Amino acid sequence: MIAAIATPPGRGGIGIVRVSGRDVDALTRSLIGRSIDPRVATPATFRDASGNAIDKGLAIRFVAPGSYTGEHVLELHGHGSPIALRMLVARCVELGARLAEPGEFTRRAFMNGKLDLAQAESVADLIEAATTTAVRAATRSLSGEFSSQVHALVDAVTTLRMFTEATLDFPEEDIDFIRAADAAGQLARIRERLDELLARAATGARLASGLVVVLVGRPNVGKSSLLNRLVREEAAIVTPVAGTTRDTVERQVEVGGIPVTVVDTAGLRSTDDEVERIGIARAWAAVERADLVIALVDAREAADALVQDDRDILARLPASLPRLVVHNKIDLAQRAPARETRGGIAHVWVSALSGAGIDLVEREILALAGVDVAGEDAFIARERHLVALRTARSHVAAAGEHLRPAAPALELFAEELRLAQRALSSITGEFSADDLLGVIFSRFCIGK
Ligand code: GDP
Repeated sequence: MIAAIATPPGRGGIGIVRVSGRDVDALTRSLIGRSIDPRVATPATFRDASGNAIDKGLAIRFVAPGSYTGEHVLELHGHGSPIALRMLVARCVELGARLAEPGEFTRRAFMNGKLDLAQAESVADLIEAATTTAVRAATRSLSGEFSSQVHALVDAVTTLRMFTEATLDFPEEDIDFIRAADAAGQLARIRERLDELLARAATGARLASGLVVVLVGRPNVGKSSLLNRLVREEAAIVTPVAGTTRDTVERQVEVGGIPVTVVDTAGLRSTDDEVERIGIARAWAAVERADLVIALVDAREAADALVQDDRDILARLPASLPRLVVHNKIDLAQRAPARETRGGIAHVWVSALSGAGIDLVEREILALAGVDVAGEDAFIARERHLVALRTARSHVAAAGEHLRPAAPALELFAEELRLAQRALSSITGEFSADDLLGVIFSRFCIGK
């Protein structure tokens, strides 16, 4: 039997203690002096060992398996006093419960088949969601939409595997089988669905993890102004004096539903000023944790090619880091907002002052983050799911190689399908090792 405070730390109108396990009924009787009807919010006094009241509130009992964890569960809704809640948990421990570990309620729900692994993870992601789109995506995963798509794919792979295994004993019929079952066609459809699922999950992973965008550029190109535009508030100090932003300034914004941390940095230039130098070092440190860098340049100077200083800045960025070049101050350069690809890098022309072209910047941020599905269609997902989907995709691709009419190799074909199926099943937790479960649930908050 486990017990924990389920509401967040601190004072509040209501605080909830949750208990789950076999002996919940006995605990209830000791704690409130009587048994209570299941699923009825029952007014009760919660008492300590000497019969003194700890708190008064509502008690609700759930009978296994009709509860969140699938076990007998008791919820005690008291007042939101951290001390009273702690006394209540201590009393439950006295009565045979032990303190729950992080995520243990949800882990039990998974173990008892109330949720699959992807759903259990989406519980934590819902709690952590930073935007309304992320909440919707998490709810979608929690209700099992993501899992059911994964199951549908597993079924399709299994069906194809079954056909294949059935033919394996009759090697001379290989080619007939491949034709009759339209193995290539089935495989192509699996691939298509896998790609679509991967796109939706990739967006979902971004919704969960967010994106760090770092603004770099020489002093005075308009980095702080662009940050303010993206945030839609006066977050960073904007002045015409070069070198005003001496430290990094971070703001949370929402771009297409994705939580984005925008980091404004000190202008990059060689300087003798010690404080400014520290700011510049911090700017490069911020680049280290960026998912994407926006390099700002002055639209008046860089009509065709970037000036040397800007090229130096771009050259110092880690080669694999996605980047966007923003030509700012088009109002002064008398240009219209625009987008162009130069040497494989996206360039946009904007005015941070007037706001012209800022939508282009937002669109590029999403594109460079690999978000090519409207956030509204996404499933909340994690890196673990993406890895599994990509692994499945590579096995499905490899399976296709073994279907060539000249030299079909059905054993190898079947084996690749088996590996694809295994990777897909790991998403919903059919084949998940205990240590993986440990890692997943330990990141939950206590009481969940
Ligand atoms: P930072 O040093 O790169 O952060 O640059 P700031 O954002 O502080 O901007 C430097 C100066 O350029 C300020 O006077 C801004 O008002 C001005 N500025 C920034 N963006 C624009 C723009 O798009 N058009 C014009 N005309 N001025 C701008």
